[in-house]
Amino acid sequence: MSSVSQYFSGLFTGIRSLMKGMSVTWVELWTKKVTAQYPENRDTLVISDRFRCELTMPHDTNNEHACTACGICVMNCPNGTINIVSEMIETADGKKKKILKQYTYDLGMCTFCNLCVVTCPSNALKFENTFENAIFTRSKLVQTLNHEGSKLREKKKETPAPVAE
Ligand code: SF4
Ligand code: SF4
Repeated sequence: MSSVSQYFSGLFTGIRSLMKGMSVTWVELWTKKVTAQYPENRDTLVISDRFRCELTMPHDTNNEHACTACGICVMNCPNGTINIVSEMIETADGKKKKILKQYTYDLGMCTFCNLCVVTCPSNALKFENTFENAIFTRSKLVQTLNHEGSKLREKKKETPAPVAE
């Protein structure tokens, strides 16, 4: 191939390539935009319930939680995000019982793997989808999950099912 035809071949290939690129740009210019304008859209923002943002320990209206301070979540947490302080007490019937004193969770360390939630035998933990947790002081990411004055919820004794005759 002569150098002249090589020149024109290259030129047309370049123009074709440019036109192809410009056609994509032109189509995208008129396509409906889907950019979410955050934080302007805060009131209408929908965050999936399954989105894991912050570990919590649900308390009921009596300020009672379900944590028995067994330590299983601490053992299963891969990076030491949870710290538990417990104490032994004597119950009214003279039995020794371990209760939770303080449940500390470091949001800054958490990888949101959910292992603590799924391995808790008492179903005492839950992930919330509250995602606006940005702060200026790292130490504020360390949270105490059990509320002040809270206590362990007593397990309700299940009524045995009637025996069929
Ligand atoms: S949250 Fe669950 S696994 Fe962790 S100490 Fe409490 S009862 Fe045990
Ligand atoms: S979600 Fe994972 S990293 Fe976070 S506290 Fe639970 S076990 Fe630890």
